[in-house]
Amino acid sequence: MRTFAKISVVVFLIILISFSCKDEPLEPRYLTENVIVIVIDGPRYSETWGDSSHQNIPRLSNQLSKLGVINTQFYNDGPTYTLAGHTSITTGNYQEIDNSGNELPMNPSFFQYWNEQYFDSIENSWIVASKDKLEVLSNCLNVEYNDNYKPSTNCGIDGLSSGYRNDSITFNVLIGVLEDHHPNLVLVNFREPDYSGHSGNWNNYINGIKSTDEYAYKIWDYIQNDSHYKGKTSLFITNDHGRHLDSVSNGFISHGDDCLGCRHVNFFAYGPDFKKDVIIDKRRELIDISATISEILMIDKESGNGEIMQELFK
Ligand SMILES: [Zn+2]
Ligand SMILES: [Zn+2]
Repeated sequence: MRTFAKISVVVFLIILISFSCKDEPLEPRYLTENVIVIVIDGPRYSETWGDSSHQNIPRLSNQLSKLGVINTQFYNDGPTYTLAGHTSITTGNYQEIDNSGNELPMNPSFFQYWNEQYFDSIENSWIVASKDKLEVLSNCLNVEYNDNYKPSTNCGIDGLSSGYRNDSITFNVLIGVLEDHHPNLVLVNFREPDYSGHSGNWNNYINGIKSTDEYAYKIWDYIQNDSHYKGKTSLFITNDHGRHLDSVSNGFISHGDDCLGCRHVNFFAYGPDFKKDVIIDKRRELIDISATISEILMIDKESGNGEIMQELFK
C-alpha cells in the first residue's frame, strides 16, 4: 500500500506539473476589443487641422480632439492616390496599385490576419465604402491569403465596378452593420471631400469636409450609446492622401504626387487605451496604423513595415 501511495503522489504531481506548464491563454493587454477606422477621402491639411480656425472641422476640433490624440505630423509617405493610400492603411505596406479596382493589394491586411487568428464569423469584420473600388482591400495576391480570411464588404452602389455612392448611404449602411452584426473590426471610407475636390467646386469641397466631420462624430456618438462598443472600442480617423498645394499643378482639384499638400494628412485616435486631450507632433505615417491596430488587437502575424505608435497609449 505504501508503494501504491507513493506512486499515486508521483502521478498526482506529474498531472499537476503538466497542467501548470500548459500555455495559459494570453491575458489581453488592452481594453480595446473593437477597432473602427474612418478614412475621409482626400482633404487637404490646410483646410482641416492645419487651418488654425478649424472652421471646417468643428466636431473634431471642439469635441473629439478633447477625448483622444491628434497627431499634427502624420503623412502618406507612399503613393498619394486612393487605392494606394487605403492599401497602406490596411496592409502597412506602401505599393503602387491600379487605382480603379483592377488589382489586389500584394500583402494581407490586418483584416485577413485578424480573421485568420480569431475567425468566428464573416460578419465580425467589415469594409464599408462609398467608393466601390475599395472592395479590393478585402483580398490580396499573397498565395496563402488570396481568397482566404476575407472580411465582409459593402462598397459603392453594389460592389466592385458598380460606381460610387453618396456618403449618406455609406453612413446608414455602416450604422446598420454595427447594429446588426456588431463587428470587431471595421474600415469605413467616405468619398468626400475628394469627390467634390475633383469637380473643382471649392464650396462643395469645403462642404464635403464639413459633412464627413459630422459623420465621424456621429460614429463616435454611436459607440457611446451601444453596449457592445462603449468603453471597448478604438477609433482612428485619417485620410488616404491630401491634395496639391495651391502652387502645384491645379491645386486643390487634384492629388497624386509627393508635394507636401498630398502627403500631409490628418490623424486622430480615440479609445480606452489611448491618451485623452493630447496633441502630439511625432512624425508618423499611414503604415503605422496597421502596426498599432495589430498591437491593440494582439494580431500576431502583421507583416507591415510600420511602427507601433507607442506615444498614443496611456
Ligand atoms: Zn482618395
Ligand atoms: Zn501634390
